[in-house]
Amino acid sequence: MNHKKNSIFDVSFEDLKDILVDLGQPDYRIKQLWRSLYHEGKKSFSEITNISKDLRNILSKRFYIDLFKPKIYLSSKDLSTDKALFELKDGELIETVLMRYNSDGHRNSRKTVCISTQAGCALGCTFCATGQQGFRRNLTFGEIVKQVLYMRQLALSEDMKEVAKGSRTKGEIQGVTNIVFMGMGEPLANYDNIISAIRILNDPLGLNIGARHITVSTVGLVPQILKLSEEKIQINLAVSLHASDNETRSSTMPINKRYPIEELINACKKYISKTGRRIFFEYVLLSEHNDSEEHAYKLGKLLNGIKCHVNLIPVNPTDEGIYGRTKSDKARNFQAKLKKFNIPSTLRSEKGIDINAGCGQLRSRIEL
Ligand code: SF4
Repeated sequence: MNHKKNSIFDVSFEDLKDILVDLGQPDYRIKQLWRSLYHEGKKSFSEITNISKDLRNILSKRFYIDLFKPKIYLSSKDLSTDKALFELKDGELIETVLMRYNSDGHRNSRKTVCISTQAGCALGCTFCATGQQGFRRNLTFGEIVKQVLYMRQLALSEDMKEVAKGSRTKGEIQGVTNIVFMGMGEPLANYDNIISAIRILNDPLGLNIGARHITVSTVGLVPQILKLSEEKIQINLAVSLHASDNETRSSTMPINKRYPIEELINACKKYISKTGRRIFFEYVLLSEHNDSEEHAYKLGKLLNGIKCHVNLIPVNPTDEGIYGRTKSDKARNFQAKLKKFNIPSTLRSEKGIDINAGCGQLRSRIEL
């Protein structure tokens, strides 16, 4: 039978299992193959030596092990942040960011990968470079996972170098510790693929990254937030709020006209009561737009009593962007106002400004 050759990363566990069974393989073969691909990150069929050469030949005629190679790769001056631009089979361009955090007394050192879920985005937030490029297409779950596979290989080789130098033991090899779905695109608009990708990232035979170390971000697609509350996965949900009243929010986030703040907050409350998990609210501080004391007060009132944590993020200025960066004393003042409402928050230091590590910024640069 003639088969079109496909990426093996676009085949689900169940489908691959059926294919192996049809080829007369025992049930356990799928686990061996899956582990080799995702857990061990084998780069070709010839490296998967725990399956027979005949089976490897058959599989290599039907599938590619097509791991990503970056078209552009940049590192920030302080070496804390790397950014890769990948070209997909159909020429679409997506971005993936690796952020390194040193141990700070409260948290262990970690390496977080920020991944894209769509080529472009239809939602048109005015502060976002991707939003200004329009929607191209959804990524497959394979394309989502391959971004992490690339960065994990890099993170592991850094760990190994530290082991060789003696600054880390073999037991301290971590690779990628956290995943954030905060790159290009709206994750919940590509719902089925992100759920499939999360299951592979979380699977002990897959990348084995704890669900609590995976964060999905959304601009607030209400039906999908409610659907997500029914999934049995303990991931973190981050909701991009960026304003505390409908007028301000609609002026930067057109989605607010479809799902206004009251509806969004109600969905968040249902999510929290269903899952028992707190929600992270993201609030990009846009100078002279949403960063006044009054805005902070309204935000405090809106989130009062909700099990949540607020991340305040001074905007990454883009060349074509219209918003300036909020000064740090003003940002601290904003945070102090929230504290009066007993709302925990973090004032984030944005990483990778010198390599355009904000959402969609590298892609927009190469296309200029
Ligand atoms: S912020 Fe997210 S949802 Fe809004 S336009 Fe950018 S990628 Fe799309």
